[in-house]
Parts: sequence; C-alpha cells; structure tokens
Amino acid sequence: MNHHKGVIEVTAIPAFSDNYIWLISTGGTSCAVVDPGDAQPVVDVLNEHGLDLDYILITHHHPDHIGGMRRLQKLSGAEIYGPHDTRIPGQNRMFNEGETVSLPKLGLEFGVLEVPGHTSTHIAFYGHGSLFCGDTLFSVGCGRLFEGSPAQMQTSLDKLAALPPETSVYCAHEYTLSNCKFALAVEPDNPDLIRRARQVELARTQAERTVPSRLGEEIAVNPFLRCRQETVVAAARKRQAGVEAGAETLAVIRAWKDSF
Ligand code: ZN
Ligand code: FE
Repeated sequence: MNHHKGVIEVTAIPAFSDNYIWLISTGGTSCAVVDPGDAQPVVDVLNEHGLDLDYILITHHHPDHIGGMRRLQKLSGAEIYGPHDTRIPGQNRMFNEGETVSLPKLGLEFGVLEVPGHTSTHIAFYGHGSLFCGDTLFSVGCGRLFEGSPAQMQTSLDKLAALPPETSVYCAHEYTLSNCKFALAVEPDNPDLIRRARQVELARTQAERTVPSRLGEEIAVNPFLRCRQETVVAAARKRQAGVEAGAETLAVIRAWKDSF
C-alpha cells in the first residue's frame, strides 16, 4: 500500500535541450508524467526508481510535449489525459475547463484550466499547490502566440495569476535566463526583477534549474503578468504610441520579445 497518498512529489526529467518533463509521485510506486516529449529519459527514470507509469498528462499538441507519449503508453499501459484536440492521438479522456482529472493510484486530483494563446486548445493542470502550465506561462516569460490572440493570452494569464501566490509553477522549458534579459529591457528598474535575474544567472552558471518558481514571485517580475502595471504599459507605449493596458500592451511586449 501507498502510505503517502495525496502528498505530491514532483521531479524534473530534462529532455532535449531545454524541456522539462515533470514526474509526479506520492511516495509509492505509481507515478504520472506531464508532457513527455521524449520517452527514453522517462523510461530511464522509471527503471532507476522502480516506478510504474500510470498516467500521462498533456498540456498541448506540440511535438516536444507529446513525442514520447505513445511509446510510454505502449510500454506501461498508462492512460493519456489531455485537451480536446485530435492532434493528440490515443487519448483515453479529453478534458474541459473546470473538469477534474482524477489520478486514483496517486491519490491526487487536478483541476483543468483552458489557457488558449500559445495553441488554441492548451490546458493547464492545477492542484496540490502545483500548476503544470506547459508553454503558456514560463518563469519570467510566456509562450509564443502561435494559435491565439493577445486578448486570449491575456485572459489565460489572468486565470493563472488568480491562483494562490504560493503556487509552484511547473512550466515546460528552461528559458528563464533569456526571459530575464528581455524582462530587464522592459522594466530595468524593477528591484524584484533585478534580484531574480541575478539569482537566475548564478543558478544557470552552476547548471541548476530555475523552475519551479512561485506564482507570487512571477507576478512581481514577469512582464507578461504585468501588462496592467504602469511601467510595462509605458514601455509598450514607447514602441507603439497610445496602446492600452492589458491585451494591447501584451501584444506589443510579445511582438518585441519575438524579435529580441
Ligand atoms: Zn509548445
Ligand atoms: Fe514546448
């Protein structure tokens, strides 16, 4: 029997050059992974720790998030749970906003948030003080707008920003160092950002992870969560006169980042 049901443990499995596949366990042999873009790094960790993969959670259809999914399903019989999107093959169940993903073998449940912007069907999983947000929110950044409008992304980021500030943000990429460089161009005088950037630079020098971060800290430093702050709106207006706070500011900041 699993004696630690409900107490979440999250482990990073690095993949490709800068992806993190998050492994969720509760002290027993059962586990889940989020966004396995590659199978082999997951297989290695399962073998090393004697874990059974029971659940695969998917935030969106991009290859670096689903590439290892089918092989892992074949090897382990894990159930695949993700958004309503036929570009993600072999799902056992597809989830809408507000539905609950139950992982009974782990004693965990996560709520589903629809967060379109990076892709049209992107979802995030929230529960147990943890947010698995794929490529919607990064530490000190956000995902590119491949299939959504700035207004959609603003709504999605607002939804995430409304979660408790102590929430651990498990994003899918180690982009924090380059995100900090851009954020400092937007808000050079933000003391929390200056502090975070120093911390991140030191961590990366030592090849340490910079995620998860805390949501409350993200709100203080992440320009994409600050599109109604005067400093960020002013920076956007220097690039495009007259833009409004919120989605219009986000559009300008996001386009600036795309060419930074
Ligand atoms: Zn993506
Ligand atoms: Fe990605």
